Amino acid sequence: MTEPQIVWLRRDLRLADQPAFAAAAALGPVIPVYVLDDETPKHRRMGAASRWWLHHSLASLSADLAAQGSRLILRRGRAADVLNALAAETCASTVHALRHVEPWWRLAEKDLTNLLDLSLHDGLYLQPPGLLTTGGGTPYKIFTPFKNALFASIDQFDPLPVPELTSPANWPASDSLDSWQLLPTPPDWATGFGAVWTPGSATALARMAEFCDDLGPYRQDREQPSIDGTSRLSPHLHFGEVSPRQLWHSVDGMVGEGPSCFRAELAWRDYAAGLVQQFSDYGARSYRDGYDERLWRDPATDDHAATDLAAWQQGRTGYPIVDAGMRQLWKTGWMHNRVRMIAASFLVKHLLIDWRHGEEWFWDTLVDADYASNATNWQWVAGTGIDSNMFVRIMAPLSQSEKFNAGAYIRHFVPELAGLDDPYIHDPEHFGCRPPGYPKPLIGHREGRERALAAYRLFRG
Ligand SMILES: Cc1cc2nc3c(=O)[nH]c(=O)nc-3n(C[C@H](O)[C@H](O)[C@H](O)COP(=O)(O)OP(=O)(O)OC[C@H]3O[C@@H](n4cnc5c(N)ncnc54)[C@H](O)[C@@H]3O)c2cc1C
Repeated sequence: MTEPQIVWLRRDLRLADQPAFAAAAALGPVIPVYVLDDETPKHRRMGAASRWWLHHSLASLSADLAAQGSRLILRRGRAADVLNALAAETCASTVHALRHVEPWWRLAEKDLTNLLDLSLHDGLYLQPPGLLTTGGGTPYKIFTPFKNALFASIDQFDPLPVPELTSPANWPASDSLDSWQLLPTPPDWATGFGAVWTPGSATALARMAEFCDDLGPYRQDREQPSIDGTSRLSPHLHFGEVSPRQLWHSVDGMVGEGPSCFRAELAWRDYAAGLVQQFSDYGARSYRDGYDERLWRDPATDDHAATDLAAWQQGRTGYPIVDAGMRQLWKTGWMHNRVRMIAASFLVKHLLIDWRHGEEWFWDTLVDADYASNATNWQWVAGTGIDSNMFVRIMAPLSQSEKFNAGAYIRHFVPELAGLDDPYIHDPEHFGCRPPGYPKPLIGHREGRERALAAYRLFRG
């Protein structure tokens, strides 16, 4: 019988438009395997909310494979070792996988090439990270020229169909998904997730079709947290249940500011991957020198900073828009993009706490937690990144809340404020109508702003 081909799955949990599956299926029987790897050096352990998503996504992919007469094999351990052992068991010598940019996956890919024939394919992004270069031949560092080059580089194409899979003569053993205990043990903090999300390709494709059908109002609506104006496809995209090229294809040729704005958002995702490809520790330290050591209040040594960080995490800062966002995150594993920017800016500027504490919290609590997108956006907001706002640009949370009509959003996620109308809900302290159960602001807006600017002046010497 023809030699079986291993398909190693990571953040690419789909059958359609999945080049590793397509290539393997063309060569022989396919053994799809997901390795739960918390051991490859530099590995950043997947956060708790992502593990919830992963459980359901793997269950969904397993059902999709079963419908094809195939199976999903689950194994646990250091990926290179586990795949090497699986190849020996099944007499396979080739592993097909999609190329990833995270530093630990690049290490695992390198380890594996020393052991087996690793056939890497592109498919996580619109274009392979690093493919596009400036006129000088170097990778892009700035978003807008990158986006323009990306748009110009994409020709018309058809996404790959679901391949026909044949099975090996004998299936290797698999762990049971439940034995991995990816779901929370009681108390179950994820009860709200199931009400909002259904992981898996079928839901992702249905949402894509529904959302992309009318992108007319996207540009305006995406800024308003009170309405369902964005695709909410980010966790599906992160886990690869839908490919960015399938999304691009579904909006390709559409004219107007809605579709072009949507394509630009997809470009941000590629851009972030390109930065991590160039600077693998982008998620671990500030790109600009000196910030990590000198600017911040440190929760490890400063009790007030530690209390402020906990209040931010719990959505008890006394700033309604920030608290609504942080509670949406805790309850649903997701936060609206505009509110992510406001909440992140509040932590870094008003509370003067290192962006890496915020990035870590998001990593643990977001269902779409993504090393590249999370780091790039945190560094952008903090003003520490390569293509950033200046640190001295400080968002005003109260006026942002009013400008983007966040009243209904706040009433939904902060029940203590549900009785307040606009405009009082945006700033109950100022209007003298703060309910007794709702905290006083941790720091006044003007005071926070001045403290941040003073700290920055000191930092600049
Ligand atoms: C501090 C901070 C941290 C963030 N962390 C993450 C993260 O860990 N994972 C993540 O996927 N996004 C992250 N984002 C980006 C953005 O908030 C989410 O991608 C977006 O809110 C997802 O919602 P949506 O799918 O409805 O977006 P839509 O508006 O429908 O956009 C479509 C897709 O484009 C991509 N996209 C949109 N905006 C961005 C962006 N700014 N950067 C990168 N990709 C983008 C996403 O894949 C998104 O699903 C972060 C933003 C901030 C400000």
